[in-house]
Amino acid sequence: MNTVQQMKENGVVGAGGAGFPTYVKAQSQAEIVLVNAAECEPLLHKDKQLLLHATDLFFQGLQTLMGLVSASKGIIGIKKKHTGLIAHLNERLPVQVELCPVDDFYPAGDELTLIRETTGVIIGPGALPISRGIVVSNVESLYNIGTARPVTTKFLNVGGAVEKRQTFEVPLGISFQEIIDYACPTIRDFTIIEGGPMMGKIVEDLSLPVTKTTAGLLVFPQDHVLIQKYRIMASEKRVNQIGKAACDQCTICTELCPRYLLGHPIQPHKAMRSLVFHQDGAGENEIQTHALYCCQCNLCSFVSCPEGLFPSQVCINNRAKALTKKIQYQGALENEPHPLAPYRKTPSKRLKRMLNLDLFPDSGDLSEHQFAPQTLRLLLRQHIGAPATPVVSVGDQVQQGQKIATVGDALGAEIHAPLAGQVSEVDDQAITLTLAYSE
Ligand code: SF4
Ligand code: SF4
Repeated sequence: MNTVQQMKENGVVGAGGAGFPTYVKAQSQAEIVLVNAAECEPLLHKDKQLLLHATDLFFQGLQTLMGLVSASKGIIGIKKKHTGLIAHLNERLPVQVELCPVDDFYPAGDELTLIRETTGVIIGPGALPISRGIVVSNVESLYNIGTARPVTTKFLNVGGAVEKRQTFEVPLGISFQEIIDYACPTIRDFTIIEGGPMMGKIVEDLSLPVTKTTAGLLVFPQDHVLIQKYRIMASEKRVNQIGKAACDQCTICTELCPRYLLGHPIQPHKAMRSLVFHQDGAGENEIQTHALYCCQCNLCSFVSCPEGLFPSQVCINNRAKALTKKIQYQGALENEPHPLAPYRKTPSKRLKRMLNLDLFPDSGDLSEHQFAPQTLRLLLRQHIGAPATPVVSVGDQVQQGQKIATVGDALGAEIHAPLAGQVSEVDDQAITLTLAYSE
């Protein structure tokens, strides 16, 4: 079995985003492998902890991927404020790999923004980084390549209003509830955000399991400003009503939009204007296709808009409509970046202050705690592509690392048992394991 096949067999996916199967990227040819280590979401630290505590495996994975795509250079995009970690990495840098420190702004970790910051290359709207000879990878994905083992655990942060504000390595399939219970919330009435505060989502059901893309669980007071914003954004009707009533077309949302600053054809203030002028009328399709270039960073809604409106959600809703209608943007695709882009970065400090995130210490050291759940629920779809098909049945005994579901030749990722146990349930969504622990 060659290295790409092994990567596929081990079920490695993009651990920082939607879970795109990594073996597909590994089959391309590129000049640069860019490591997205910017970790620009406040309160998240798992990538930095991996870089610090699993440095060799991370570099092993990076060198493996560089070899596969024939890259002559590896670049690690990391915030320059992490001076201790940068010194640690500098002492161990393999040949052909360099560190590229970037400013502390949001969203420095937006893939296309980081490419521009670290290489100067502008990726055109709708184009992929590989079109310019660049493969971008997440820190944890490279760690998973480096271990050369089936992916059975996930690194994630627990943060916010908890006693144990740490990074944990947990078995896939463990429930959010079990992790939150261990972290000990310090408040009674809380709401959980899965992911980072800027791009996460509210968790209504704590029995949900950790998947290969779970990056964080953040505990917030129910009346926290972010929770209130997310609650409003869940209602398209409310978003549109207050948008129509209060948007004064000041254009600040557009002027600070990271994708607009890259020269992409997205202007969220026009999406807001469309709420009034384009309801099922002329121009609606055009506005909706602009939204295809939104990276959903939520900067416009959470920070930029002085009226507290939600242009990002209008863009997200428009994007869904454009995808449903299968319409595509027809305008110019090679725009120049905005000349003032370097001066319009939103500092992370300001963002944290505005969103009352300074309420919580921004820390997340790696914990040695090992969870011992009674059951694990492994979702069959933890990745982009086809859901996996179970290859085990109820009653089967499985060993740690054994494959329990496969996608065969389809795009997707194999799924393995994180721990030894017995298959207690199989349905069209998941495989449940009841675990066996030796005394
Ligand atoms: S920043 Fe707010 S008020 Fe100004 S155009 Fe954008 S949505 Fe409207
Ligand atoms: S969420 Fe807003 S700021 Fe971010 S890319 Fe989309 S329109 Fe621009």
